[in-house]
Formats: sequence, structure tokens, C-alpha cells
Amino acid sequence: MSTNRTKQTIKADILIVGAGFAGSLATLCLHQAGFEVCLVEKGSHPRFAIGESSTPVADMILRDLSDRYSLSWLRDFSRYGSWQKNYPEITCGLKRGFSYYKHDKQYPFSTDEDHTRELLVAASSSNENSDTNWLRSELDAFLVEKVKEYGIPYFDDTDISRCEKDDSWSFHADRGGHHVVFAADLLVDATGTPSFLGNYMNIDSADDGFHTNSRALYTHFENVTPWSEILQQLDIPAIDYPYDPDHSALHHLIEEGWVWMLRFNNERTSMGIMLDQNRFGNNKTISAVDEWNSIIASYPSLRAVTAPAKLAAVPGRIFRTGRLQRCLAKAVGEGWVALPHTIGFVDPLHSTGIAHSLSGVERVVETIIRHWDDNPKLYAELTRYEEGIFRELELIDKLVAGCYRGLHAFELFNSWTMLYFTAAIRYEQQRLRGKVPSHFLSAGDRGIQQMVDDLFQVLQQLTDSENITAGDQHSFRALVKDYIAPYNTAGLLDPGAKNMYHHTAAEL
Ligand SMILES: Cc1cc2nc3c(=O)[nH]c(=O)nc-3n(C[C@H](O)[C@H](O)[C@H](O)COP(=O)(O)OP(=O)(O)OC[C@H]3O[C@@H](n4cnc5c(N)ncnc54)[C@H](O)[C@@H]3O)c2cc1C
Repeated sequence: MSTNRTKQTIKADILIVGAGFAGSLATLCLHQAGFEVCLVEKGSHPRFAIGESSTPVADMILRDLSDRYSLSWLRDFSRYGSWQKNYPEITCGLKRGFSYYKHDKQYPFSTDEDHTRELLVAASSSNENSDTNWLRSELDAFLVEKVKEYGIPYFDDTDISRCEKDDSWSFHADRGGHHVVFAADLLVDATGTPSFLGNYMNIDSADDGFHTNSRALYTHFENVTPWSEILQQLDIPAIDYPYDPDHSALHHLIEEGWVWMLRFNNERTSMGIMLDQNRFGNNKTISAVDEWNSIIASYPSLRAVTAPAKLAAVPGRIFRTGRLQRCLAKAVGEGWVALPHTIGFVDPLHSTGIAHSLSGVERVVETIIRHWDDNPKLYAELTRYEEGIFRELELIDKLVAGCYRGLHAFELFNSWTMLYFTAAIRYEQQRLRGKVPSHFLSAGDRGIQQMVDDLFQVLQQLTDSENITAGDQHSFRALVKDYIAPYNTAGLLDPGAKNMYHHTAAEL
């Protein structure tokens, strides 16, 4: 009976709900800036989480957060070398770049001397300075330990069941049978799901308006054969590769969508299959395992990769999602703000999620610090952040949807992918010059927006037509090359590169 239950009230300036890496980092930064903060998590760590492939942009933001908020230890996680040296017990993987391989159903992978069915883009210039794949269960648990170490109130296994708003918030929660009330002036929703705001603020989330229409099957395996071994068995030379492809985010393009392979330092590999529902709908009649097996079985080289593999004990099963695209109708309100992964998501292609979340943490924390004492200004600036996130999701959607449209004609895919790299490199370069762009991936840059909008229209017309000839693909490539020319400091689409980009990486 509730009358026997103890009631505890926790007061804070800011309540952060959701202890993924984004919630924990937002908590730590706000604490360092002098706020009374409290972090609440409905589950407990360590727990399995997907979303593991980082990017150089994410690394840059980690370093800036580390410097700005005197979190010196955080810097170590921004490079493979320092991570290995100082935190070898937290599992990660070496990610030197982004690799794409085009497979044909029922045939072993094949290519030619010009790598016409491969694309390798270096994102880091050396192993030491390299980007990483994060084993989320371990990194997220470590960050929560840091929250506790800094003396910040942290409540796990805590289920918020109702809220009241007066001048400030009161969130009522159950924790192991105890009634806990969290009183705070501002709520930061870091739950990574729209349901919390849906329940308490009646904010809707929808999938309409997205061009991308994909869903996922994913898990962790042990003992996955290295892709470089399969290439050797197929006599495919990797002599002019910029890096070992197993040390990258591996994307295998298949008829139904694409497959990711992210290797960690131990026996573990994250694998997922992304399915294009615009073309293949959603087959609910078979189990996730059967669907996984039937897709992998159709691609002999992927079958070879997974032949000796076993499901890792954690998570120990294959997850199957519904459509992944979602966006909240509102991301900011009186006394609350949501972080990017709560606001919306497009697709794992090109690994935008972690960096997007971090860029949201960076902006939200800075806005709160600047305008805490001026409520109307705080709300106005958070509303600008909201508009920014919506625009960024639109850009990411087009960058991803164009890739799905080009999946069946590798030259189209390859050309379209260069728009993502152009936007990412532009964003990185602006940050390196000390000017943090207002929008993630330079989504606020009119030139970038126009380029993507114009080319998306051309791509739509092209891919709506019955026959896409080699000539059409070459012309599209030439058009993309012209459009990206003002930004193209990395030689993207230079024929001499033969789809092997050694030097796109800025010295980060
Ligand atoms: C299939 C898939 C693959 C992906 N792959 C990549 C990738 O390769 N690279 C990349 O950059 N991004 C990827 N992403 C995106 C990535 O997962 C997210 O960007 C990232 O997880 C966001 O982190 P977060 O801390 O904001 O949220 P989360 O990791 O979702 O953490 C949210 C936390 O909030 C807690 N929570 C939820 N509800 C409540 C509640 N009511 N009360 C209290 N706590 C609550 C949860 O338990 C969880 O611990 C992928 C996403 C998907 C779906």
C-alpha cells in the first residue's frame, strides 16, 4: 500500500532522464558548469545498446566537451590510441574509415582492378589517431560511474509514472517500491525514444515526411571471419587499400538494403541488416532468425563471413525493428528540451547518430548555461535548436534516401555518398578553423542544402525510370562532381582515386 511507502524528494535545477552516453555527458557538463543536476534511468547498467560506430565529428565534439567542461579523461575516448592506452578494459574497435562493397544475389563478391564495386574512404590518418567503434554497454556504464564519482545524484531502475508542472516540475517515480519525487526547473529528455514526451507532454512522433523507409535486424556475433580473409580467398587484391577493411565501418550493399559489420577488439562483431521497405515491404510472416538466415544465405561471401560465427551471449538474440524513421512534432517546450535521438532518427547509414547526439548535447548545454537566468531568451534559443535539429534530420534523410535509391547501380550510390562526405568534411573543417557551424553536418549552409535538394530531384527522376544506363550513371557522377567542386578539398570522385580515398581525413 502506498501509505507504507517512504517518500523521498530530490531537488535539482535540471533533471536529465535517460542515462545513455548523451544523458550522462549532458549531466556531467551541466554539473561542471555549476548546476544542481540529477540523472534518472529506467533500467540499469551495463545494458546492451545499439549505435556503435563513431565518426571524426563525434571525436571532435568529445574533445571540445572535455576541454570546455574540464573533463580531461573524456579526451582519451576521442582517439583509438589514447583509449587503448588509458582504458583498455573498455572494449572498442578500430575504425579507420567507411568501406562499401556491392554484392550480387547468389554470386560471390567480385570486383575489378578499378575497384568499380568497392568504395573505401579513410576517415582517420593513422591507427593511433583513429576513430572507434564503441561497445556501448561498457562505455555507457563507465560514463554512469563517472556521474556517480562526481557526486551527482543518479537513480537507476527508476520508473517515472506521472508529472506535475507548476512554476517547476515534480516527477513522481517508483524505485524499488519507494516513492521518489524529482523537483526540477528544467527537464532534459535523453531517453532516446519519443514515448516519454508522448506520455507526459502529449507530443506526437511520426514517420511521415521521410523519404527513407527502412527497418533493421541486428545483433552481436563472436568469431566472424575477417572480411580481408574472404577477399584473399577470392583473390581480390587489397594492395592499394587505404586501411584494413576490418578496421572500418563495413557496409555490404545487397539487393534488399545493406549489411553492417563493426568489429571490436575482442571476438565480438556487431552485425545488422538494413532493409529497404520502399522496395521490399515488411515480411512479418517469418521469424527474425529465419529472415536473417535467408538473406545472408543468398549472398555467398556474407555466408562465408558468418559461417563460423555464433551469437554473442549478450544480447544472445536477433532484434527486429519496425520502421526506424521518426520525428517528434515538438522538441522544446516551457521547461523542457529533448536531445537529438529523442527528437528523431533516420537510419544507421554513414553512422550519423552518435555525432548528432553529441552535437545536441553540446548545443543544449551551452544554451542552458548562457541563458539560464533569462527564461524567454532560453526558450527562444532552445527553439532555434529545435528548428536546427529538424533541418538536420531532413538533410540526413535525403543523404540516406539517395543511397537507398542508388543501391542497385553502384556508380549512383558511390556518387550520392560523396554528398555525405562533402557535408561531413565541410563541418569538420569549419570546426578545425575554430568556428563551430550552427548546424550538424553543415545543414544550415545554404550551398549544401541547395546542392542536396537539386541533386536529389535529379536522382529521383533517374531512379524512377525503368532503365538506368551506364551513361546515365556517368552523367550523374559528373554532375555531382561539379556541384561538390566548391567544397571538394579531398579529391572526391577524381577518376585517378579509383574509389580508394587515402587522404580525406583532416589531421584531427
Ligand atoms: C539499428 C540502429 C543502428 C544504429 N547504428 C548507429 C551507428 O552505427 N553509429 C551511430 O552513430 N549511431 C547509430 N545509431 C544511432 C544511435 O543508436 C543513437 O544515436 C544513440 O544510441 C543515441 O544515444 P542516446 O544516449 O541519446 O540514447 P540511448 O542510447 O537510446 O539511451 C537512452 C537511455 O534512456 C533510457 N530510458 C528510456 N526511456 C526512459 C524513461 N522513460 N525513463 C528513464 N530512462 C529511460 C534507456 O534505458 C537508455 O539507457 C543506430 C540506431 C539504430 C536504431
